[in-house]
Amino acid sequence: MVPEPEQVDLAEVEADLRARLGEVRARLAALKAPPERGSGIGFGKRIGDGTTEAIGRLTDVGVADRLEAIEARLQRALAKLAEGSYGVCDECGARIPAGRLRSVPESALCVSCAGR
Ligand SMILES: [Zn+2]
Repeated sequence: MVPEPEQVDLAEVEADLRARLGEVRARLAALKAPPERGSGIGFGKRIGDGTTEAIGRLTDVGVADRLEAIEARLQRALAKLAEGSYGVCDECGARIPAGRLRSVPESALCVSCAGR
C-alpha cells in the first residue's frame, strides 16, 4: 500500500518532515519562552504600550495554535512512515495520489476526505 519509490521518495519525505518538525518546534519554543521584557504593565508606562503588548500576546497564542496543528500533522505523517501506512488515507484507506503527497507531504487524508 506504500507508494512506489519512483512516485514518492520516502527517505526524502522523511528528511523533509523531520526538518520541518524541527523548525516548528524551534519556533514554538521561542514563542513559549518567557518574554524578555519586563512582565506586564510597569509603573510610568503609558497605557497604550501595555495594550499593544497584550494584543501581541494574543496573536502569539494564535500562531502557537497553528504551529501545534502543523506539528501534529508532521508527527502523524512520520508515524505513518514508521508503521508503513504512509500515502494511505487515515479516513477511508484509499491511496493518496503521489502528486498530493509531493505538494503536501504531511497529508494523512485523501483529497475527498480532507475536503469534508
Ligand atoms: Zn480518504
